[in-house]
Amino acid sequence: MNVPFLDLKAINLRQESALQAAFQRVLQSGWYVLGRELEQFEAEFAAFCGSRQTVGVANGLDAIMLALKAYGVGPGDEVIVPSNTYIATWLAVSQCGARPVPVEPVAATYNIDPARVAAAITPRTRAIIAVHLYGQPADMDPLNALARQHGLKVIEDAAQAHGARYRGVSTGHLGDAAAFSFYPGKNLGALGDGGAVTTDDDAIAAQLRVLRNYGSRQKYHNEVAGFNSRLDELQAALLRVKLATLAQDNQQRAAIAALYLRELADVPGLVLPQVPAWADPVWHVFVVRHAQRDALAQRLAAAGIGTIVHYPVPPHLQPAYAELGFQAGQFPIAEAIHREVLSLPMGPTMTADDAAAVVRAVRAACSESAA
Ligand SMILES: *Cc1c(COP(=O)(O)O)cnc(C)c1O
Repeated sequence: MNVPFLDLKAINLRQESALQAAFQRVLQSGWYVLGRELEQFEAEFAAFCGSRQTVGVANGLDAIMLALKAYGVGPGDEVIVPSNTYIATWLAVSQCGARPVPVEPVAATYNIDPARVAAAITPRTRAIIAVHLYGQPADMDPLNALARQHGLKVIEDAAQAHGARYRGVSTGHLGDAAAFSFYPGKNLGALGDGGAVTTDDDAIAAQLRVLRNYGSRQKYHNEVAGFNSRLDELQAALLRVKLATLAQDNQQRAAIAALYLRELADVPGLVLPQVPAWADPVWHVFVVRHAQRDALAQRLAAAGIGTIVHYPVPPHLQPAYAELGFQAGQFPIAEAIHREVLSLPMGPTMTADDAAAVVRAVRAACSESAA
């Protein structure tokens, strides 16, 4: 039995007629950018997160970058980022002209280690970006406490964690502002690019609305050097359809994760995700670790099971960041994670049979590697 890593077509075809109706509505409206669909999506997503404001933007990278800009982060500033994250978290900082300052994760949860953050704070530090990696919320209370103590902003990178909860509170409502991506493969995915910032701060939301639209509040009057970073009417209308089933989709992911956690618990050499008592993850991906990761991936591929590595090279060792002068070995926890992680198939259209096929293949592959 073949199980793809993620079946986006199957996910979207479940709502084929509602998505087509949304397309027709936008087509017939004759209004394609910054209109009613976006306003309604923003209100609905704010309600979903429990935040006062949502500002739709063009993608997740822009969401992080614009949130930093709205708080005035710029050249000469430093922003604390996880050493273990997707490179977009770092790029958002660089695009503001600021410097990303990496901090290692807790190995068991993959998320930034609050106990290591204080040592990275300098007089230039302006913000901490807490990434809820793989759909697991970061440990927010100690991060927020440190930020208050040092006068920093906390920006959530919630691109992988729509609907995850930390001590009962939803992502998007756990820091000063939060950035979301609606890239097609995310838990809430558009049929193209999209993103949003959520915040309780009305002044920051107003600033974001200016920044995303050429720095203008009134057409052809530009207060600041802004950006063209808008969530268009079509994607907003499609996202409204998909938002309606997000909670249910996340529950289906949780059921698959529970099955994996139960059925793979005793596999020698395989490290499963650990969920702290305060975390309610949304399983954007289900990440296991294995010392022979590449061999495991090959055996699974041969058995028809799709996997992906999130991620093979940490940001500090990417050629794109050569200018920062980091060396291999400087962030050993992130580097070990990048050598050993493998994401198993995960998604809201997976069945218990699919998951059982993955379990059988993983058990067989791991007993081969132990032999
Ligand atoms: C996807 C992602 C982003 C960027 O989102 P885009 O919409 O692709 O720009 C940022 N951070 C993390 C952790 C992501 O997974």
